[in-house]
Amino acid sequence: MTTTLDTLIDVPQQRLLRTAVPGPRSRELHGRRASAVADGFGVVLPVFVERAAGAVIVDVDGNQLIDLASGIAVTSVGASHPRVAEAVAAQARAATHTCFMVTEYDGFVEVCEALTRLAPGSHAKKAALFTTGAEAVENAVKIARSATGRQAVVTLGHAYHGRTLLTMAMTAKNTPYKDGFGPFAPEVYRAPSPYAYRWPTGPENAATEAFEALTELVTKQLGAHNVAAIVVEPVQGEGGFIPMPAGYLASVAAFAKEHGILFVADEIQSGMGRTGAMFAVEHDGVVPDLMTVAKALAGGMPLSAVVGRAEIMDAVAPGGLGGTYAGNPVACAAALAAIGVIEDEDLVGRARHIESVARPRLESLRGPSSPVGDVRGRGAMLAMEIVRPGTREPEPLTTKAIAQACHAEGVLVLTCGTFDNVIRLLPPLVISDRLLTDALDVVERAVRSVA
Ligand SMILES: *Cc1c(COP(=O)(O)O)cnc(C)c1O
Repeated sequence: MTTTLDTLIDVPQQRLLRTAVPGPRSRELHGRRASAVADGFGVVLPVFVERAAGAVIVDVDGNQLIDLASGIAVTSVGASHPRVAEAVAAQARAATHTCFMVTEYDGFVEVCEALTRLAPGSHAKKAALFTTGAEAVENAVKIARSATGRQAVVTLGHAYHGRTLLTMAMTAKNTPYKDGFGPFAPEVYRAPSPYAYRWPTGPENAATEAFEALTELVTKQLGAHNVAAIVVEPVQGEGGFIPMPAGYLASVAAFAKEHGILFVADEIQSGMGRTGAMFAVEHDGVVPDLMTVAKALAGGMPLSAVVGRAEIMDAVAPGGLGGTYAGNPVACAAALAAIGVIEDEDLVGRARHIESVARPRLESLRGPSSPVGDVRGRGAMLAMEIVRPGTREPEPLTTKAIAQACHAEGVLVLTCGTFDNVIRLLPPLVISDRLLTDALDVVERAVRSVA
């Protein structure tokens, strides 16, 4: 399938190494960073970017890296997609900012219309726009508490919902996200994640036993009438690319409905086509009451949203939601362009195609003496869990070595997981088969080199 990228961008879609990665100019800039930038910001690969287009990042030393990260699932339409870039430039010339709470503009309304059209379910829906993913999660909780008059929020083990005070409390992993940052927001409770690969009594029991534990938490420990929302990532992201097993989401949604609890799907990483459906909940035929969207929503510009049942969204009185930059007009213009690209170029189908190419390659790396313990994910959100061969013991150092071997060969991959032992692949959905195959060759060599 050809996309507009093949003809419009002037960064050749190929891997090219001119220096070591990182090269001398990147090293110099990274040195400067140390004295000006707070150490609290980590970096996956200390390479400075000069340009990025499609699935290729050009660094300041002239190296061309294949991007299997998409800026953490953001540039699904490819970096600097021409339609996004043109929409941003035109909107920036027309009006950069007025604040939607001060004077209105149609881009905000159009993005809300697009999201209410795309979100699952045929009921009346409304949307609200914000800036970051964490802000969308915070606002989903505000709306849920307002609509139910209840306070408790249930999240899962291995969850990631952001870095603000409330979303830190909702996030599971201590280091690096929470350590030393407490006290945390109250009324956040955690049920076990149905993490099939590590479920104590076997993967086949994960969905039912995790669901039972959740119902016990809600009905016995909290009292269902105190619970405002159950917030779940349909495919857990930072926690290790853990897909919720078949049936689990439907059971949780039905249980929530029975008890007047709102079912909130955090689709910030898994949404906008990434998993081979517009939203990952669709794989299980589940219709959430509220959904959070961000990352890939605006093709690289900061924009997030809560979309859900109109009567729930309207529970908050005028003035209760907002933000100075919420739904910034330039970000809205970018979102409308990105949504147009996702639909016109069938990037949802493209995500399924990427899975059909990449998953067999990753599966082929498994074996009795291989460090690849599990291959999982959905669509173009795929991962390998790295363990000591023949066991399920996490191997974070081997994981790091695999990622570094990929980086050295010019393929940008990310790691994740509670045990820091998951290699995750998030290619832009517009990546060509040729480039994807070249990147997978590199990943394969990296895994074999550490085995
Ligand atoms: C990235 C992410 C967030 C937080 O988004 P930010 O824009 O970084 O605040 C929340 N939930 C999920 C599932 C995410 O992947």
